[in-house]
Amino acid sequence: MNAPDRLSATAPAGTDAAGAEPHVMPTYGRLPIALSHGRGCWVWDTKGKRYLDALAGIAVNTLGHAHPKLVAALNDQVGKLIHSSNYYLVPLQERLAAKLCELSGLTNVFFCNSGLEANEAALKIARKFGHDKGIERPEIIVYEAAFHGRSIATLSATGNAKIQAGFGPLVEGFVRVPLNDVGAVEKVAATHPSIVAVFLEVIQGEGGIRPTTIEYLKQVRRICDERGWLLMLDEVQCGMGRTGKWFAHQWAGIRPDVMPLAKGLGSGVPIGAVVCGPRAAGVFGVGNHGTTFGGNPLAMRAGVETLKIMEEEGLLANAAEVGAMLRAGLERELAGVAGVVEVRGQGLMIGIELDRPCAALLGRAADAGLMISVTAERVVRLLPSLILDRDEAAQIVAILCPLIKEFLGSASAADALA
Ligand SMILES: *Cc1c(COP(=O)(O)O)cnc(C)c1O
Repeated sequence: MNAPDRLSATAPAGTDAAGAEPHVMPTYGRLPIALSHGRGCWVWDTKGKRYLDALAGIAVNTLGHAHPKLVAALNDQVGKLIHSSNYYLVPLQERLAAKLCELSGLTNVFFCNSGLEANEAALKIARKFGHDKGIERPEIIVYEAAFHGRSIATLSATGNAKIQAGFGPLVEGFVRVPLNDVGAVEKVAATHPSIVAVFLEVIQGEGGIRPTTIEYLKQVRRICDERGWLLMLDEVQCGMGRTGKWFAHQWAGIRPDVMPLAKGLGSGVPIGAVVCGPRAAGVFGVGNHGTTFGGNPLAMRAGVETLKIMEEEGLLANAAEVGAMLRAGLERELAGVAGVVEVRGQGLMIGIELDRPCAALLGRAADAGLMISVTAERVVRLLPSLILDRDEAAQIVAILCPLIKEFLGSASAADALA
């Protein structure tokens, strides 16, 4: 990330005079802004400046900030039981698992704490699925520009040399193909007898909001069925209602065998889940996988309440409608602007691809009171909470589009056209 355009005059509490964090490992290039609290789609920093949040903690704060129903439920849970260990029954696990199965049409769930953990479990399921069939060195098809996390196995599955650099040797057993190319999968099928699974994001998130096509998903489902492979769909970012359906693959009318979830599932409380259908649900038995924190009552309550509130407040429909309006507004304001390559995405998962690196927009947007993300260097990414309303969507367009035009140096040309 580039340095922000304007540094704050005074450093936030907990940082040194220059706003640095001398004791925190510098794994992120951060803006010198410390948030103190939020309400709905708005957040305030420690100096009292207000921001419209079009990032939602990277697709995490499904219900916005400080949703009164979620706050009440979490307060209740914290006062009862935060953690109990998986040595005992955790009734909230069964409640959340049953709900996820109802919504997905799948059958069984393993709970963990994050996206990479969900993906790690999926990869273990695929490998054991292979071993159970007598395949000694199982291989998994993965994708160019994919992102699956930062553990050694998930970064090996990730299709980004920058994320892998310095961490070799990578985990073996991955065969990489380009997105939306059925022929490439057929070719691997013909040449690699040890393939056991296809692993992909329905809409690539970190890779730049790149959707798989509906036809592609149907074809890959067909190939997996013909070959007896697992279809494993990483819905960590695009799932949980973000596209206007519970899970993005539901737009294609298919079902995966394995679906890792995380980000938005707990509306901010760390949580991960691997939801499995019949072909995969029986692969793990006692002792095959585990986690100390996974499935703890606090995280499970967050998941249960998030899903309940999403239903009560019609947030799938809201994501679809407000998302379409937001995208239309961006397309309208950015039409014909030189340097804008494409506006794409579905629901409240929207990317604006520019023709040049644009990390500098993060700081400029923050200065203008808007939180966004930039991914794949050239893609402005919007992942607001699913409670975003029409007025807030219009405000995102009104703040962001002039910044993009100014950044691209085409403000005057665009104004002349208007
Ligand atoms: C964020 C993300 C992950 C990793 O999740 P963490 O919770 O950061 O480990 C994996 N897959 C996808 C598609 C993601 O967007």
